Amino acid sequence: TMITNNLPTAELQRLDAAHHFHPFTDRAALAEKGARVILRGEGCWLTDSEGHRILDGMAGLWCVNIGYGRKELAEVAARQMQELPYYNTFFQTTHVPAIALAAKLAELAPGDLNHVFFAGSGSEANDTNIRLVRRYWQVKEQPEKRVIIARWNGYHGSTLGGGSLGGMKPIHAHGGKIDGIEHINQPYWWAEGGDMSEDEFGLARARELEDKILELGADKVAAFIGEAVQGAGGVIIPPKTYWPEIQRICKKYNVLLILDEVITGFGRTGNWFAAQTFDIKPDIITIAKGLSSGYAPVGGSILSDDVAEVVGSGGDFNHGYTYSGHPVAAAVALENLRILQDEQIIEHVQNVAHPYLAERWAKLAEHPLVGEARLVGLMGSLALVPNKTKGAKFASEEGTVGLRARERCFANDLIMRHVGDRMIISPPLTITPAEIDTLIERATKSLDECY
Ligand code: PLP
Repeated sequence: TMITNNLPTAELQRLDAAHHFHPFTDRAALAEKGARVILRGEGCWLTDSEGHRILDGMAGLWCVNIGYGRKELAEVAARQMQELPYYNTFFQTTHVPAIALAAKLAELAPGDLNHVFFAGSGSEANDTNIRLVRRYWQVKEQPEKRVIIARWNGYHGSTLGGGSLGGMKPIHAHGGKIDGIEHINQPYWWAEGGDMSEDEFGLARARELEDKILELGADKVAAFIGEAVQGAGGVIIPPKTYWPEIQRICKKYNVLLILDEVITGFGRTGNWFAAQTFDIKPDIITIAKGLSSGYAPVGGSILSDDVAEVVGSGGDFNHGYTYSGHPVAAAVALENLRILQDEQIIEHVQNVAHPYLAERWAKLAEHPLVGEARLVGLMGSLALVPNKTKGAKFASEEGTVGLRARERCFANDLIMRHVGDRMIISPPLTITPAEIDTLIERATKSLDECY
């Protein structure tokens, strides 16, 4: 039989469990419960095989920034596939979609970030960054400068390189990590700040970078990498003192700064890039996800003039992917950027995030289960707690209550994600005030059902 939308859900689930090995999924639980089968999307809404209309509070995996169902992107993809479905960008060749997308990104990115190296995903782009920064110091005749410092509980992808940059031990535990990566603590004030003020704590955690550089020797350290706001770690918004201090330390010790904006890029925090929101001047920005709103797999590294000139002065850079600058993905990304710009979606983020969502999100902090409610632009988190003491944690195994809350949301046709006992949202940037009301209603109902 043909496998189509028309098969009964149970049969689709059986086939899925039998043949589809899923990422980040417990296979036994999948076989027992069956995955939810998503058929269609429109705006902020998904429809599953049982006909439920689900509000997608996560924009897929933080990526469907313009919302589902935009026909313009489908049309651009179809046109590009007919004209030139594929050509590579290796060995002195190029094509118009890659040129146009690189030029557009150079225009949108702040400062002298004017050069784009394309990849197929965020993980690949961060793998590129590992080579780029090591090559940078090689060309500068300081080949010993090759260690990259990152943060515990950071996420930079799940290839061996990206997973090694990330500071997630369960990922390191499956397959190991590469050498030359060191981790410092995250700037998670609410849970780890103790009695320090948020500002003091931001400085203290940033200064761990300085300590680590001094411990290793500045002549050994190539770069620091961090997400502007940790996403997969639980939407951890750093204290406002954190990034300026990181910037100062990188500059002082000649350490390149890689800002991973795979989630925060393309409007999520209310600007094109979180570099603008937090006033950061990175040497490299990692992009993916919202670059195409997830309509095509594409990512990349935006490089400063300095990085491009130095690495570019060393002859061939021995690195690249078959799909670097893929013409269909590039054309789709360009159309996505056009929509973000022409429809003023980033202005919409600013208007709808503050005060509309912010007021309602702050109200959720009054819920008995919520200790902290934080928001930047359209990414937010709730720390679930047994009582309102700062940093309080459930006695039960970490994440038990978060998982329950996520399952209640799921049952109430709202997608929220949980990271341990933190609940997070990152909806399409096009979300309307009425949809925000629905999100808050369903989230509140789900929390009420948890205790
Ligand atoms: N960097 C960050 C900050 C991410 O959140 C992610 C994915 O969630 C990645 C990198 C990896 O991107 P991809 O899954 O496209 O490889």
